[in-house]
Amino acid sequence: MKMFELIKDKISDFEKIVFVTGAGISQESGIPTFRGEDGLWRNYDAMKLATIDAFYEDPKLVWEWYNERRQNIFAAEPNPGHKAIAELEKYAKVVVLTQNIDGLHQKAGSSQVLELHGSIVKIKCTGCDFIGEIKTEFTEVPPLCKCGNILRPDVVWFGEQLPQDVWKNAMIHASECDLMVIAGTSLVVTPANTLPLYAKQNNAILIEVNPQETEMSSEMDLVVRNTSAISLPEFVSMFKK
Ligand code: NAD
Repeated sequence: MKMFELIKDKISDFEKIVFVTGAGISQESGIPTFRGEDGLWRNYDAMKLATIDAFYEDPKLVWEWYNERRQNIFAAEPNPGHKAIAELEKYAKVVVLTQNIDGLHQKAGSSQVLELHGSIVKIKCTGCDFIGEIKTEFTEVPPLCKCGNILRPDVVWFGEQLPQDVWKNAMIHASECDLMVIAGTSLVVTPANTLPLYAKQNNAILIEVNPQETEMSSEMDLVVRNTSAISLPEFVSMFKK
């Protein structure tokens, strides 16, 4: 049976489709995921580098980690999974709620992308209100703001709040959709992992695309155990008929 056969007859009912994406959707673009072996960087646990305490303890180390990630991300191209989501805009109203900071959904052409955890190109000051974008690589890290304080990547680290305006809109989109496709996320990080529950309250159909089981797999209406670059083009092809 084809992967999405179960929802084939309902395609014309879906007015608003929300995608919730995580590191796994960019894995086939050559960007490692966080958890498991991939999450190790120079023998450091990537999970432990993503906190404000780790940053203040060794800002140079955390900056070096982000610089390497940024170079890897800039060299990466959207894969067929990102492109399929962008293409779906021709056939339905689509919103992407991503935990990724790599900008690949936008690069693929998606027009409505909410970055829940910030962006690898953005920076902010640890002291003043300055926020900006990295135009060229810093020769010395950590870089300093004009006010003298250290600049940091404008991403959401563990224990930090999501940008409230972005989160509020994400909850609204999740509550309004009639189909939610959850692709490439382990769904272990809150509050992003509550988004499927908002969709469920609206009686939306939930589809998980992930080669591995997640903690919320049992909540899904349909589980596709395959990679996003393989599954999502097939999903979108159903809308073209
Ligand atoms: P994750 O690494 O926890 O999970 C990735 C998921 O993708 C896994 O379930 C895996 O089975 C799946 N996957 C792997 N390859 C796939 C493929 N080709 N197609 C489809 N699925 C595939 O990533 P996450 O869920 O995005 O983590 C949530 C958030 O945790 C991150 O967005 C990030 O904000 C935060 N986090 C950040 C850091 C950091 O910045 N250093 C570190 C750890 C976690």
